[in-house]
Amino acid sequence: MKLETKCVHAGQIPDPTTGAIIPPIYQTATFVLPEVGRDLGFDYTRSSNPTRQVLEANLAALESGKHGICYASGMSAVDAVMKLLKAGDHVVCSDDVYGGVSRHFNQVLTTYGLTFTYIDSTEPQNVANAIRPETKLIWLETPSNPLIKITDITAIAKIGKDAGIPLGVDSTFATPIFLRPLELGADIVMHSTTKYISGHNQLIGGALVVNDDALYQRFKFIQKTIGAVNSPFDAWLTLLGIKTLHLRMYRHNETGLRIATYLENHPKVARVSYPGLQSHPQHAIAKREMSGYGGVLSFELKGGIPAGKALMNSLNLCGLAESLGSVETMITHPASMTHVDVPSAERHARGLTDGLVRLSVGVEDPDDIEQDLEQALDKA
Ligand code: PLP
Repeated sequence: MKLETKCVHAGQIPDPTTGAIIPPIYQTATFVLPEVGRDLGFDYTRSSNPTRQVLEANLAALESGKHGICYASGMSAVDAVMKLLKAGDHVVCSDDVYGGVSRHFNQVLTTYGLTFTYIDSTEPQNVANAIRPETKLIWLETPSNPLIKITDITAIAKIGKDAGIPLGVDSTFATPIFLRPLELGADIVMHSTTKYISGHNQLIGGALVVNDDALYQRFKFIQKTIGAVNSPFDAWLTLLGIKTLHLRMYRHNETGLRIATYLENHPKVARVSYPGLQSHPQHAIAKREMSGYGGVLSFELKGGIPAGKALMNSLNLCGLAESLGSVETMITHPASMTHVDVPSAERHARGLTDGLVRLSVGVEDPDDIEQDLEQALDKA
């Protein structure tokens, strides 16, 4: 099956009992066993559920992987990866990651004896230099949140393989439509399915996809033991979203490039970060490893923080909201919203200024998005 066909069909067959074309929502906690010691494939929804299983098979197929494992949120998927580690282990991590990820690493996991080194992963040598004898994981986010930096997955996967260290990639912004990290040598791919994968701001969810059977068994064990699973209904809604993932992503990509170009040429805009622009420092890597650039961009106004605030408070169509990757256009102020828990000195050191604005373009008519930005920029 080609990728677009997988969006619609992978992991799904018409329901054998009724012919229902859409997989049923098995909204049940438990399953009655026909006799002691024998089940019909399921015993308890924390361990496994037929609706969730369809979603896991679908996501595995989309990522060219063998196994999918779904979670209650993107953060619980990240947490499951970290549960592979033990006290004393060290992680090399991209410096520009979603604020909730660095909050989890710095304010929760360090208390369990894990250590983290943050590096600018756009330069592969920085990853190699940060590796220590106790390094047990390389964790990348690409495109990154909110600076939209791009990391060369192929180069880092080679560094990881040579050192015997697994590579995990948070690929939330790209989706398998534009980037498939396992094909480039990564060992684990992670998604906040809250974003593009489900796509309609209707739920919170997360997923991992892997090829290695032993790794999968470990993740299944962690999943059933801890129970941070998505509900059957949320799994079903996510599957419904994925049916149009490819169509939505093509539109996000088209509008993303158009709005990024518009902003780059606007006299009040100081700089725009969008990997589809020639001016993006990693445009060549994005072009090589990705087949599209997505719909998230960030920009900075010449008028700094006051101008940014005036812009965001003047928008009518674009919603001021703490998320991205949905059909609705959303705008965010990372310093006060998504990345508020990153200490300001650390934020500034990694280039996340207080005036930075993140925009996630939706699938509305691009003329309407541009007009809304235009009237708000007039007031900024
Ligand atoms: N990874 C990235 C890149 C994100 O943007 C987010 C949330 O914004 C997460 C992980 C966390 O996902 P969730 O909000 O589903 O827990």
